[in-house]
Amino acid sequence: MKISGVKWFVVDGGARPWTFVKVETDDGVVGWGDCTEWDAWPGVVAMIDHLAPLVIGRDPQDTERIWFDLAAYNVRHKGGLAWKAMAGIDSALWDIKGKVLGAPVWQLLGGKVRDRLRLYWSHCGSFRNRAAEKLNRPAVRTTDDLRRLSEEVLEKGYTAIKTNMMRLEDLPDPGFSKASGTGGDALPATLKNAVGVVSTFRDALGPDVGIALDIALRFKLGGAIDIARVLEPYNLMWLETETFDPGALRTIRESTRTRICTGESLFGLDGYKPFLERYAQDVIMPDFAWNGITMGRKVCDLALAYDTLVAPHNCHSPICTLVSANVMAACSNFMILEIDEDDAPWRDDLMTHPFTIDNGHLVVPDRPGLGSDLIERELEKHAIDQ
Ligand SMILES: [Mg+2]
Repeated sequence: MKISGVKWFVVDGGARPWTFVKVETDDGVVGWGDCTEWDAWPGVVAMIDHLAPLVIGRDPQDTERIWFDLAAYNVRHKGGLAWKAMAGIDSALWDIKGKVLGAPVWQLLGGKVRDRLRLYWSHCGSFRNRAAEKLNRPAVRTTDDLRRLSEEVLEKGYTAIKTNMMRLEDLPDPGFSKASGTGGDALPATLKNAVGVVSTFRDALGPDVGIALDIALRFKLGGAIDIARVLEPYNLMWLETETFDPGALRTIRESTRTRICTGESLFGLDGYKPFLERYAQDVIMPDFAWNGITMGRKVCDLALAYDTLVAPHNCHSPICTLVSANVMAACSNFMILEIDEDDAPWRDDLMTHPFTIDNGHLVVPDRPGLGSDLIERELEKHAIDQ
């Protein structure tokens, strides 16, 4: 059995484009992967085309060997677009392997340690704040809208959410822009916005629902500490803050009783190792659309060696959700999985076998491979023009 082709599809995902990889074989078995990189997809698909000749003609079941060959080829630009393309191809190869062996991917990773995965509703409020029309959801413009949304969270059975600072009519502007690479301090208005959003959710959701706030890479050490401290009364599930300096993150963690989660922008074992060695965070958040199943699983096992929980970064396509579900079904140190409940209304139309969300939990799929194929004519309906 040989790989005969590698294709990609860029599809409108509502709040961001989805980037899919399809690997074809001379036996007719195909596999699907996700390497969504939001706005940088043109670079990722160029890299997929660049790497395709290196895998065509090889045995698709050689997942370990192909991963490390591609990693060696890309050694001088590790991570970034190269690893994202590698991750999409890698997940597709695992999908093929599962289909060939008649087993779900989780079975190939050691077997299931759970049947259901606890989910948190990600971008809760923030997607409706900036993309409500596209997502066909009620707009969020005020803290009262967040209260109404909280009722929906509870009705749907979610036990946790993640939100962001956002522009609301009755709160100070948080004072940063997505494109800004400067700043990093938390101004008084920023802190008031964070407290306004989080306290509204805490009040409306009650004391037992997990609330996470994602501040990404926006704040440097002092700013992140101020945000973590000001949110201590609200007992966050975690504050999600990113830095490439594990010493800085450890300092943040030691400065507050708010839990710290990090890692969505890290790649591979050597990316996570200095953070785990320093116990710089409470929870790590590897992205399997950017580390693949082969390397993603190794990162989870490294975290286990440091007694650390894993909550995968999963804000991409439904294939990424299936990838995350298969890996997490087989990992003992799973904590919780991200899901965008406010997703593109056509998400399930793309899938031959949409996954099941039941009362805030994802039911681990039992089908061979990842659990679903994609329907190409549906992808074409939502294709993004190049
Ligand atoms: Mg994040």
